[in-house]
Amino acid sequence: MSSTTARSSTDTSCRNNMSSSKVFEIQTQSHSEILDITGVVQGAIRDSGVQEGMVLVYCPHTTAAITINENGDPDVKRDLLTGLDILSPKRGEYRHFEGNSDAHLKSSLVGASELLVLQEGRLVLGTWQSVYFCEFDGPRRREFIVKIMEG
Ligand code: ZN
Repeated sequence: MSSTTARSSTDTSCRNNMSSSKVFEIQTQSHSEILDITGVVQGAIRDSGVQEGMVLVYCPHTTAAITINENGDPDVKRDLLTGLDILSPKRGEYRHFEGNSDAHLKSSLVGASELLVLQEGRLVLGTWQSVYFCEFDGPRRREFIVKIMEG
């Protein structure tokens, strides 16, 4: 299983609104995988004490991504990876010397961040929605940032 740990935390107050930023480390286990980080994000919100605002989940990597999708049927995560392989195959007319252009393309297709609504101390998510960290060139030690903005 993947482990997720908080590396650092800063809290600042600006114009009477609280802002909290926390960096989490995550060890991915496969070349490509989608990991549910909803509980980690919700834990950061709980620690911040912020009840109302916005939450940015950001991935500072060029071969990984953040997305929101279904948490009911685990085959959805598998199908997302299968579909991304079709959109961005391993082999192609790429030039990038690292040989991981498919992972760079997937990162841009999915996106580096998600912005979520925070109400009454909870993420506003649909019944079947979870927040996911997407690995496209693992296994690696990765980071993601949870920025909580009160307002
Ligand atoms: Zn590369």
